[in-house]
Formats: sequence, C-alpha cells, structure tokens
Amino acid sequence: MERKKVVIIGSGPAAYTAAIYAARANLMPLVYEGFYSGPPGGQLMTTTEVENYPGFPEGIEGPELMDKFRKQAERFGTKFVTEDVVSVELKGHPFLVKGSSLVVHADSMIVATGATARRLDVPGTKDGEFWQKGVTACAICDGAMPIFRNRELYVIGGGDTAVEEALFLTKFASKVYIVHRRDHLRASKILAERAAHHPKIEILWDTILKRVEGDDVVRSVTLQNVKTTEEKTCQAGGVFFAIGHEPITGFLQGQIQLTERNYIQSVPGTTRTSVEGVFAAGDVQDPVYRQAVSAAGSGCMAALDAERWLSSKGLID
Ligand code: NAP
Repeated sequence: MERKKVVIIGSGPAAYTAAIYAARANLMPLVYEGFYSGPPGGQLMTTTEVENYPGFPEGIEGPELMDKFRKQAERFGTKFVTEDVVSVELKGHPFLVKGSSLVVHADSMIVATGATARRLDVPGTKDGEFWQKGVTACAICDGAMPIFRNRELYVIGGGDTAVEEALFLTKFASKVYIVHRRDHLRASKILAERAAHHPKIEILWDTILKRVEGDDVVRSVTLQNVKTTEEKTCQAGGVFFAIGHEPITGFLQGQIQLTERNYIQSVPGTTRTSVEGVFAAGDVQDPVYRQAVSAAGSGCMAALDAERWLSSKGLID
C-alpha cells in the first residue's frame, strides 16, 4: 500500500493552502478532494462574487478563486484524488485513510473538510430555484451584491450569526427583517440589543419561512406566525439562512476528539488535535470566523505544524 508523508482531506481554501505549503516543503501531499460530499473547492464553489479575499480588489468569482488555489498547489507537485474519504484509522501509525476506492497509509494528516451551512427545506430556496439568486447562507460573502441593494431582506435564525448578518446587511438594505421561530433570541445580549435598537431592523417573532417566490431573482417571501398560523406574503429582495453550520466530521467519529457540536477540537493557537500527527484547519475546527482568508491562514499553519511534527519524529530529513 502506498505510504504518504502528508494526506490532506478536503478541498477548500484551508486544504489547498495546506497543500501549497506542504508541496513546497517537498512533502508530496496527497489531497482527497471529495466527490459526493460536495464539489471539490468547498463552499466557495457555490458562491458568486468574493469581494473580501485580499489581493483581488475587483473581486473574484468563488469557483475561479478555488481554481487558482488548486492550480497553485498542483504546480508544486500536489497529487489530487477526486473521491471522498469514507473512514480513517488513527489508533495505529501510520494512519490508514480509506477513500471510496483508494486506500493509503499516512504519516501525518491534515483534516480540512469544512462545514456546510444549514439550509431549510422550503419551496423556492433550493438549487435550481432561487438558491444563489437571492437566497444564500452567507450575508458577509454575498450581502454587498447589487441585487440586495435598497431591498427588503430577510435573515432566518435567531443566533449570533443571524443578528450579526442582519446588522451587516443594514449597510445595503432598505430594511432587514430577522425571522425567528421563537419569542426570544439565542444571540448574545449585546448583539440582541443592537438589533432591537437598530432603525433598519425589525424582528419577526414566532415566525417561520414558508415559501420564496420571484422571477429571475427573489421578489417575495411567505411567512407564517407559528402561534396564530396566519400567513402573509411580503416583498423581498433576498433571504439569508443563518441557522447554523454542520462540520463534515462523520468519518472521524470515535477516532478523534470532537466538540459537542461535532467540530474538531484543536489545541488553541495551533492546528494540533487530540491525535498526534493529525492536524485540523479551516471551518471543520472553526465555528466562529469561517472566512476563506482565515481558513487559508489555518491551512498554512497546519502544513507547518505537520512538517515540524514529521521532522521531530524523524519521519522526514
Ligand atoms: P446557533 O447559535 O446554533 O443559532 C442558530 C439559530 O438558528 C437559532 O436561533 C435557531 O433557533 C435557528 N434555527 C436552527 N434551526 C432552525 C430551523 N430549522 N428553522 C428555523 N430556525 C432554526 O448558530 P450561529 O448563530 O451560527 O452561531 C454559532 C456559534 O458561533 C455560536 O456559538 C455563536 O455564539 C458563535 N458566533 C459568535 C459570533 C460573535 O460572537 N460575534 C458571531 C457569530 C457566531 P432556536 O434559537 O430556536 O434554536
């Protein structure tokens, strides 16, 4: 069986950056870039314009940015395998990595499988409907797009993300509604108070989203009050899901320490995990920042941590 010095699992900004650094350190990384688990390239593959990634003052399309990351990793000798990792065995060493067809041994491993933003199963919001045509799951990424300017926008959720995204959207929107299924916010008090006092924000309590409609883009939402069951349809320019994220860690269950919300537990300030020689980068270990640039930064850290660990164990010269 082939034995690799570094196996990287994932394919967003964190994984590709780890690959660039590991490849330039002559570690000849193998990247399992996924297949059924989502498009290689991660969440940015379903984003349109990325305007906050430094170095691109005019903005860049998410897929184009990921293509550049990937090519840069490839240029230095990274090998890619377009399949999902089904399971890993981390109890012995070298580690065993089982892809859907390729199985390898790994001296070290970097997990950068990311997270998926949770979406509601509501008519009008799906792929092929208004997803990415006014319905998104990241206001920070998409909120400044022209289609949202001076429109009435709806943020779904009641946590810190929902409130933070609503506050962010007030820069562009004519009005922002927070649609929350209960009668008080989960968000921290300070953020909740900011939302409550913001002249452009209104919180719709005990309310759920029933339907999104439009033509080329979103034009209206239908909401329902869960206490009275009354429905109303309102003009809308956009819908932003802020109902949490799911880290992609199913294949790690029982092998590595996860947080109660299934994120990889890393040692603060490092990318080290509970298993020596296994490092974590990007959204799979970060429920808070979740930005392409912070993911890329942690990918760099993971590759440096892996290289130092391999060297300390005499596994590389
Ligand atoms: P979260 O705290 O899990 O909140 C998710 C929200 O979505 C909750 O209000 C929840 O409603 C709602 N929700 C979940 N499923 C839903 C469904 N099916 N239909 C309707 N609503 C649904 O997630 P988050 O806001 O993304 O925050 C995640 C973590 O990051 C938290 O620890 C948060 O404190 C942290 N964070 C911090 C900051 C900051 O400090 N600046 C910013 C962002 C995030 P219920 O309340 O009814 O459960």
